This record gives sequence, structure tokens and C-alpha cells, in this order.
Amino acid sequence: MNIGVIGGGMMGLALAYRLSQQGHKITVFESNKQLGGLTTHHDYGPFVWDRFYHVILPSDTYLINFIKEIGLGEQLRWRSTLTGCYIDEKLYSISNSVEFLRFPPLTFIGKLRLAITLLYGSKIKNWRRLETIPVEDWLLKLSGKNTYEKLWKPLLLAKVGENYKRVSAVFIWSYIKRLFSARDSSLHKEQLGYVAGGYKSVFDQLDKLISASGSQIRTGAKVEYIAPCLQGGVWVEHNGEKEHFDKVIFTGPVNILQQVAAPELVNISATDGVEYLGVICMALITRKALVPYYIVNLADQRIPFTGVLGMSNLVSLQETAGLHITYFPKYVSADDPLLQQSDDEVRKLFFRGLRLIFPEITTDDIVAVHINRAAKMQPLQVLNYSSLVPKVVTEHNDFFVLNNSQFVNDTLNNNTVVKHVDNFINKNLF
Ligand SMILES: Cc1cc2nc3c(=O)[nH]c(=O)nc-3n(C[C@H](O)[C@H](O)[C@H](O)COP(=O)(O)OP(=O)(O)OC[C@H]3O[C@@H](n4cnc5c(N)ncnc54)[C@H](O)[C@@H]3O)c2cc1C
Repeated sequence: MNIGVIGGGMMGLALAYRLSQQGHKITVFESNKQLGGLTTHHDYGPFVWDRFYHVILPSDTYLINFIKEIGLGEQLRWRSTLTGCYIDEKLYSISNSVEFLRFPPLTFIGKLRLAITLLYGSKIKNWRRLETIPVEDWLLKLSGKNTYEKLWKPLLLAKVGENYKRVSAVFIWSYIKRLFSARDSSLHKEQLGYVAGGYKSVFDQLDKLISASGSQIRTGAKVEYIAPCLQGGVWVEHNGEKEHFDKVIFTGPVNILQQVAAPELVNISATDGVEYLGVICMALITRKALVPYYIVNLADQRIPFTGVLGMSNLVSLQETAGLHITYFPKYVSADDPLLQQSDDEVRKLFFRGLRLIFPEITTDDIVAVHINRAAKMQPLQVLNYSSLVPKVVTEHNDFFVLNNSQFVNDTLNNNTVVKHVDNFINKNLF
């Protein structure tokens, strides 16, 4: 069958790879010049690495199997890492149970209630009930006011800004579930992983395998309109051309779907409610490590970014020309003016926060600063979110939607992407 796949991110390429292995002829359309979408790479000068920070958990079995299947199993690397927390103007290590028990900002009762929240949350299976409960109410009830104000509220503000008041308990529950599945995994317990060469090597390999099967990947090909064909199949318009496909699968964000899909293909009104969060991420390249942790959770409203990701505590320095890369993300609403500010303005703002946490940092330590952004990063999991997302099977037999807005009970990650692709393939819809 002749199938068009719109979007050359992880979803689109995993899908194109699986369908091309089944003997279908695929054409992938990617509007950017580079493949990878949110998982794409960036040229940092002395080295190339992911635009945003990515980690693989030992429990990411769908993703790990996929990486092995495309021949990159030998490129997987695993490393033990540490976790930190910046709270009350101090940096604490909370990398193991003993450190957590010592963690001064929370009282003994507060820690107990936090542990109960995590344990109870990890056991919950009926997430649909959680969709109707505001995350704030759920956490206050389970963890108590003190732990909520000290830990959860700053974390919610960090992840979704003031939107946290509209977010359901599924949002935090899915994080807890992912955290616990990582700890339960027997292989590489407590370790985190990555692919040598970063996600660029994954996309290069997929590009090679998909092209070798006779399918095509077109970059710089922005799809402008998708419409049904009276004789069957679907038209795809891009760069002034119109092409016919037997089936088309759309993998981009919902707002783009609304713009490009003809009303006969998909019920647009049902998808009106999906709101997106954006991300602004400063990548700092330094001569020495800023922190010994892979991740530092920030619970301090004076700091403009929401976490510190010491990527070089996970990734070998050989990957980054002997230099250290640290990411500083900030999650904002998709219409936040910060997303429109110049790199220089963002850098100045983020440096004010940087100096509060790392007052000893000097300009000599810094090799380069890169500001990366994504306006449509992640849907906001508001109350009853699952009723807002587009269905995989649409109003038209030959048009399908498979995108990350459909992760109604999961966090946004590439394991879930591959899981959704595998489920789609197993349903044998064509
Ligand atoms: C800051 C950050 C940190 C992350 N950390 C992790 C992590 O640690 N581990 C992990 O597993 N995942 C992580 N992720 C998530 C991971 O990047 C996503 O799971 C993944 O990128 C989602 O892929 P996707 O294909 O669904 O969407 P996207 O990557 O958004 O791909 C959609 C593609 O569709 C294209 N497109 C849209 N409209 C059109 C059009 N009209 N025509 C043609 N093409 C179009 C876009 O250009 C894009 O390339 C992180 C993401 C971010 C932003």
C-alpha cells in the first residue's frame, strides 16, 4: 500500500520503519530540514548532541527493544547517576533512601506522607478516576499541607506554571508510575541510559533502513492540506504539489492537525480543547561539571528555570569533546511571551538564576550558551483530558491520527511513542 506519514519525529519514523518492514511503500513528510522533531540534534560547535535532554530508563522496554531491532543495541550505554534537590537555597543529594530520610526540608511526618503518596500512587490502576480530581486536591489530601507547600507545589509550578490549578491528578500519577517502573526493573537497576552518538544516531539509522526498503523521507516538506479523494484514499498538499496516498497517518500536534486536515477527515470540534505547553531550554557548555547530579529538581520561585540536567554525569565526555553539557529547562504555556524573547534576553534572565545557585561560576568556565525552544512540546493534562484528544481511527477510513496528545495516562517519552506505534501496528488496521 502507498502510505503517507506526516511528521518525521520519533512517532513518524518508528511508524514508517515498522510499516516499511511490512512491505508498504511509505513517504514521510517532515517540515523541518532535520529529522527528529523534539528529539532532534543540535550542533553545539565542538560536538553534536540532542537539542533537549533525553534519558532512557531500564524499564523503557518498548524503546530498548526497538533500538536493538534497528541494530543499535551495542550502542546502548548505562550509568549510575545521582539525583539532587535545590530547596531553601541549598543543594541536597537525594540519591538513595538514607539521603532521603536525612533530607532536612521535610519533617519526619512529611517524609512519611510523601513515601505513602508515592507508594499508593504507584499501586493505582484506575487512572480514569484520577482524571476528575485536581492534582492539588489529590496531593494535599495524600501528602499534607507541609509537604505539598514545600515540595509538590514548587514542582507543579516548575512543570506547568500557574496552569497546575487546572491539571488533573493523572499528571503526577503518571510520573510516579514511571519512577516506580524504573526502580522495579531488574536489569541495570538504578541506572540510566543513552545511545552513543545521541538520538542523531537513532534517526540516521532509521533514515538508512527506511530508505533501503524503497520508502522515502522528505525533509523541508511542510504539509499544508490533507483532503479526502472521492475515488478513495487521501490527497496530501505540500510545497505546491498534490500527491495521492491509499492511507495517511498524521503524527504532528493537534493544533497543526486542525489547520491542515479537511473537516471531512477529522472531527475538529472534539479536539478544540487540547492546550500545549512549550519549553525554553538553555544548554550551557562548560569546561568543568556544575553539579554531580543527572537531575536537580528546583523548588525555588526566584529561579527562572525549573531544573538542572547535568547531562555529562550520564553521557561520556568522549561524546562531548571533553566538555560538559548542562541543560536548564523552563516549561511555559504555548503562548508565553518568553518563547518570543531573543536568545540574549533569555540568556540574561537564566544567568541571573544560574548565579544564585552557582555563585562561583566564572565566564572562563563557560565555553558556549545555546538557547533552544519548542512552542508545542506537551499537551496540558487538564481535568477529563482523555475526552479532548483526537481518536486514532477518524471519520474517514483512510485517515489516521497517531500523536503524543493520545498519551492520556503516560508521561511524554519515547518509550510511550514506540508503545503506541506497536499497538497501532498490532491492530492491523490495513
Ligand atoms: C525538554 C524535553 C525533554 C525530554 N526528555 C525526554 C527523556 O528524557 N526521555 C524520553 O524518552 N523522551 C523525552 N522527551 C520527549 C521526546 O522528545 C518525545 O517523546 C518525542 O519527541 C515525541 O515524538 P513525536 O514524534 O510524537 O513528536 P514530535 O517530536 O513533536 O514530532 C512531530 C513532527 O511532526 C512535524 N510536523 C508537524 N507539522 C507538520 C506538517 N504540517 N508537515 C510536516 N511535518 C510536520 C514536526 O516538525 C515534528 O518533527 C523530552 C522532550 C523534551 C522537549
